[in-house]
Amino acid sequence: MARKYLFGSKQREDLWLREKHNAQLSGRGDLPICNLCDLPVRKTDAWDESHDPGRAKAFGGKRTAIAHRLCNHLHGAQVVTPAIAKSNKVRRRDIGAAGPGLGRHPMPGGRRSRLSKSFSHGVVPRLTLSEKLAVMRAKRAIGGDIPEFDAPPVALPDTGGAS
Ligand SMILES: [Zn+2]
Repeated sequence: MARKYLFGSKQREDLWLREKHNAQLSGRGDLPICNLCDLPVRKTDAWDESHDPGRAKAFGGKRTAIAHRLCNHLHGAQVVTPAIAKSNKVRRRDIGAAGPGLGRHPMPGGRRSRLSKSFSHGVVPRLTLSEKLAVMRAKRAIGGDIPEFDAPPVALPDTGGAS
């Protein structure tokens, strides 16, 4: 016997019938319930297969239901897409792919620069921690030489800006 699909695809028909059955079981009527706005989805409404709002498909969610097309698109634009962007940003920072000084134009004298800028000393080569410790120990040593901390100013590479 030929099967007549209600909405042109077997998956959508099965989804509609499953959600209709769930609505009937919960005493909500004969129409599927939108899983985003909790209102019935009429046969004339534009509807989509919607993933569980608590766990989007992009985060591995597999539970689906019916939602109005407008509800689904609003939820995607306002909740899911920003969450994906944030998780991508956090992951990039976490694995060290992004961060201060790792962009295309790191700030001159920034924390990853080999130069250090200060108000009192100007632009000086950045000392490593062991070099700073050596300077401090030499300053504290009795009768020792006091090393010159103030290195001569270093010219920054020309960035093409106005001088
Ligand atoms: Zn809705």
